[in-house]
Amino acid sequence: MKNLFYLFLLSLCFVSFTKKQTKRPNIIVIFSDDHALQAISAYGSPHVKTPNIDRIAREGVIFRNTFCTNSICGPSRAVLLTGKYNHLNGQYDNRTETKINTGQPMFPKYLQENGYATSWIGKWHINNNPQYFDYWKVLPGQGQYYNPDFINMDNSRTRTEGYATNIITDEAIQWLDKGRDKSKPFSLVIGHKAPHREWQPDAQDLHAFDGKQFDVPKTFFDDYKDRKAAQHQQMEIKDLRWDWDLKVGASDVGYVKRMNKTQRKAWDDYYETENAKLDTTKMTAKEIALWKYQRYMHDYMACILSLDRNIGRVLDYLDKTGLAENTIVIYASDQGFYLGEHGWYDKRFMYEESLRMPFIMRYPKMVKPNTVVDNMVVNIDFAPTILHAAGVPIPNDMQGKSVLPLVSSKKKPKDWRKSMYYHYYEYPDAHRVMPHFGIRTERYKLIYYYGNGTSWELIDLKNDPDEVKNEINNPNYKAVIAKLKKELKTLMIQYKDNEALELLEKAMKTPQL
Ligand code: CA
Repeated sequence: MKNLFYLFLLSLCFVSFTKKQTKRPNIIVIFSDDHALQAISAYGSPHVKTPNIDRIAREGVIFRNTFCTNSICGPSRAVLLTGKYNHLNGQYDNRTETKINTGQPMFPKYLQENGYATSWIGKWHINNNPQYFDYWKVLPGQGQYYNPDFINMDNSRTRTEGYATNIITDEAIQWLDKGRDKSKPFSLVIGHKAPHREWQPDAQDLHAFDGKQFDVPKTFFDDYKDRKAAQHQQMEIKDLRWDWDLKVGASDVGYVKRMNKTQRKAWDDYYETENAKLDTTKMTAKEIALWKYQRYMHDYMACILSLDRNIGRVLDYLDKTGLAENTIVIYASDQGFYLGEHGWYDKRFMYEESLRMPFIMRYPKMVKPNTVVDNMVVNIDFAPTILHAAGVPIPNDMQGKSVLPLVSSKKKPKDWRKSMYYHYYEYPDAHRVMPHFGIRTERYKLIYYYGNGTSWELIDLKNDPDEVKNEINNPNYKAVIAKLKKELKTLMIQYKDNEALELLEKAMKTPQL
């Protein structure tokens, strides 16, 4: 009888243990590269439809005000991993000399220690191999769209025939299906190269926009008046390279030469036919800039079609296998991007198009369909959110907060942040965007550029949503500026950016420029 009683107790413990185990959600983060909010229909894109990304929003939550701390590839991934600003995780920029310690604490470390199977597949863009992943297979550096090479866990390199977005998805599904330890909950990051420069579409999407003219942003011919750093940059669409970027006379560029015969034929059939219609001798400089814009938009949007389709494949797999209910799916990109605003491509600046990140999440067990969050989220929040969702304590040295309370109707936090801190470093390569730091509140943006000359900018987002007026010398804003400088300093102290604090204190002693 006594034995039976113990057996009963033991079975109760087992039931409660397994119940606890099955409760822990799986976590998939689909993290693309340079995907602008203006190219996602859930964010109101006028350019393209993204039904699969929209589906994540419709069945979950869309965060409409998510910002990155440093608008560039490697640094954003380091923030995703560590939940810390780049002055603490070491990934200041994309330079090949920047090699951070990938053994520092990161969210996969804590997940792994707490019984998760962890994996990262695709674009990684940190110059040391991943750690804390049960499985990883990553693109070297920026990676290739066509027939990409991968670095494997034994440090060998292999080349896979095909198109990167498809292959990365194949690899991810294969790990989900056959690679992982199915006794554990899992965490998987699917890192896409798309839609990064040089925007090489999959052959099947080349004709998707035949006959379409993309709307030109009203700031396309911005004169950069009163904005010194904007005058100094080199990231204008009018200067895109004909061969590498625009696919005109591109038969000798490296990525075209890696294509196989079938890929090359589809590529040439499309571009050579279209390029034959171009005669620049009869065009003005403005007309050429607009032609370049249309080609740029065509290629960028065609990359988005493949990205969205492949996200659909992952969602379908989760449905088919019954994993959807207990799997958190996050879609985000490392930062936003310019699609002709201010005449630009690329990112880096603290202006809205590149400061913003798409961030959409589905978690049927917690998030009601069609939830919208307007609170200010920063990418330091991603790692704490993932740990919180997994029931793992958030380490004190992570600088962000879990966003889960923002999506639960019961306990919405009242003291959520009302301002965010930004710091960009990489200069002069590439694109000559001066290093800068700044603060963004709900209405204002105060930016300080340093390095090659210094300058302040104040943007009033309410009166100037296109960010073309620098109000720093407008006496009406004197009190606002003083308040923002004080708040900027508080944020620097809070986030321990001592280097920037020194620069700010020096700048505050000198007359305004
Ligand atoms: Ca990027």
